[in-house]
Amino acid sequence: MENSIIKVVNLSHRYSVQWAIKDINLDIKKNGIYGLLGANGAGKSTIMNIMCGVLKQTGGDVYIRGISMLNDPINAKRFLGFLPQKPPVLSELTVEEYLNYAANLRLMDSNDIDDAVTEVMEKVGIGHFRRRLIGNLSGGYQQRVGIAQAIIHKPALVVLDEPTNGLDPNQILEVRNLIREIAEERTVVLSTHILQEVQALCDHIWMINHGDVVFSGSIVDFDNYIIPESLLVTMIGAPSID
Ligand code: ATP
Repeated sequence: MENSIIKVVNLSHRYSVQWAIKDINLDIKKNGIYGLLGANGAGKSTIMNIMCGVLKQTGGDVYIRGISMLNDPINAKRFLGFLPQKPPVLSELTVEEYLNYAANLRLMDSNDIDDAVTEVMEKVGIGHFRRRLIGNLSGGYQQRVGIAQAIIHKPALVVLDEPTNGLDPNQILEVRNLIREIAEERTVVLSTHILQEVQALCDHIWMINHGDVVFSGSIVDFDNYIIPESLLVTMIGAPSID
């Protein structure tokens, strides 16, 4: 357990009577980009929301660097950053104001916040927009701001729920490159329903269907895996961008 960055053990969740995920097990021990691939409704967001402590599971647990999300969420969350699928709408704040707010939420030392905000804006390429209202940025730049808040405290693990969803092809390429850069320093777990996205980005893939893991393996294993046709039709293969 201690050498895992994140370990998910028998994770299950039920919304009222319906099980969304059942007995999910994942274990990440080294840096890389890890993908949860699945159609709409497969259970990806449910897994990620529980991983990041924003949804309480029905059963099982998540350990971040060996710390239980169930028993010690405050400490477990220190090691992770999260870009939810539907981030809070803070379009009336400037980029700089929002990142200051995010740093405060992370309980960062107030003496470090100005430097951390400047550094992360440079890192994700939004320094020139620091005084721009978030609501006036393009979708791609808004996504960069979302990624910036997820990495401002330099977490070991970054969880990105459908980070390229709704972006145009150029923005998709740019956000993918940014994800690759981030993964040079930390572990990234992302979700997508786009087959080509995991092929372009991920070292390891878990394919989720109706709340179960139906495939787990490296990108090389995945290339040799014959996806059942019933699942294939639910996945979107983006055209030739990588
Ligand atoms: P998407 O790509 O559309 O976001 P997903 O793979 O992230 O899909 P989830 O959002 O985790 O899937 O949903 C898994 C299942 O749980 C679906 O059947 C969904 O309808 C159901 N579900 C999700 N959130 C709720 C909720 N708040 N209340 C009831 N059911 C929910």
